[in-house]
Amino acid sequence: MSKKHNFSAGPCILPLDVLKKASEAVLNFNNDNLSLIEISHRSKPFVEVMEKAVGLVKELLEVPKGYSVLFLQGGASLEFLMVPLNLMKEKGGKAAYTNTGVWAKKSITEAKNSGEVFVVGDSSDKNYNYIPKGYNIPEDVDYFHCTSNNTIFGTQIKKFPKVPSLMVCDMSSDIFSRKIEVSKFDLIYAGAQKNMGPAGTTLVIIKDEILGNTGRNIPTMLNYNTHISKNSMFNTPPVFAIYVSMLTLQWLKDHGGVEWIEELNNQKAELLYNEIDRNPLFKGIAEKEDRSNMNVTFTLTDSSKEHLFNQLWENAGISGLKGHRSVGGYRASMYNALRLESVNALVNVMKNLEKKLR
Ligand SMILES: *Cc1c(COP(=O)(O)O)cnc(C)c1O
Repeated sequence: MSKKHNFSAGPCILPLDVLKKASEAVLNFNNDNLSLIEISHRSKPFVEVMEKAVGLVKELLEVPKGYSVLFLQGGASLEFLMVPLNLMKEKGGKAAYTNTGVWAKKSITEAKNSGEVFVVGDSSDKNYNYIPKGYNIPEDVDYFHCTSNNTIFGTQIKKFPKVPSLMVCDMSSDIFSRKIEVSKFDLIYAGAQKNMGPAGTTLVIIKDEILGNTGRNIPTMLNYNTHISKNSMFNTPPVFAIYVSMLTLQWLKDHGGVEWIEELNNQKAELLYNEIDRNPLFKGIAEKEDRSNMNVTFTLTDSSKEHLFNQLWENAGISGLKGHRSVGGYRASMYNALRLESVNALVNVMKNLEKKLR
């Protein structure tokens, strides 16, 4: 099977091996002549899948003691609401947020329903093409929230700020793409479908001791403690999404883990950004120092060449390159499973365009 070069921003490319194993498990899981998706989530084979997935997260990210790893539902979007409900004091609750893009803005909207929100860094003045820096975070906020990688605009935090409060981060689109020090964070969340697996589950890594201090009556399903006490099985978990995430994490481990993929992701980013900077037909959108290694946003310097460029990359078997409607241009998403040869294919198309127009 010759797959397309899939630059989709999400749901994302997954390793071919993982797709094969996942489709086999849908027909016959564990050689039990039952499908993965028709067995009890409380059966031993599935409990083992869950335990393995949690174990791989802990191993790959070197999660310290005192943290829980959860696989929840509702996407990263539900975390926008769960975070303030679980961390903001009911009386006089305050939080600091950075506004670095569409997702950050949505998280701010949800937090405002639970307390006072200080937007301490904001890049909306330049359509989010940079990461705000050097801002002050009030000492008395319950937590600080940032988005590590802005999927739509192609910016990424390279150095996380020091914060006087709890540190919460939406890592939906760059989790497992580079080394992070989990101990510097109190809560990390990530929708699976950008860099870990299929849509349907959200990874949450949370420091246990930060919970239960708000004085709030939190609805059961929205309370992290509910899910911690039941090992993510308070209700039926999304078994398929968790299984495929587990396979993807196993794939990552087998190839050399986060260190290996970070090196490869750096190579992929360098290759494409170098071509964008070299080729006079293209221009990067994000500020250079804040460029994302996951989502590369760029435009043609002459938009009348769009039709020709589109034809060339489509003919080269490339898919998912169109930019988000709020940015325009192009976006090449280069998540973990995208191979260097796919980036090479795109760079060759860009060079070809230059030749054709010479
Ligand atoms: C895609 C994305 C989200 C939204 O995730 P859902 O799982 O669709 O709710 C949130 N934050 C970031 C950074 C994203 O890239």
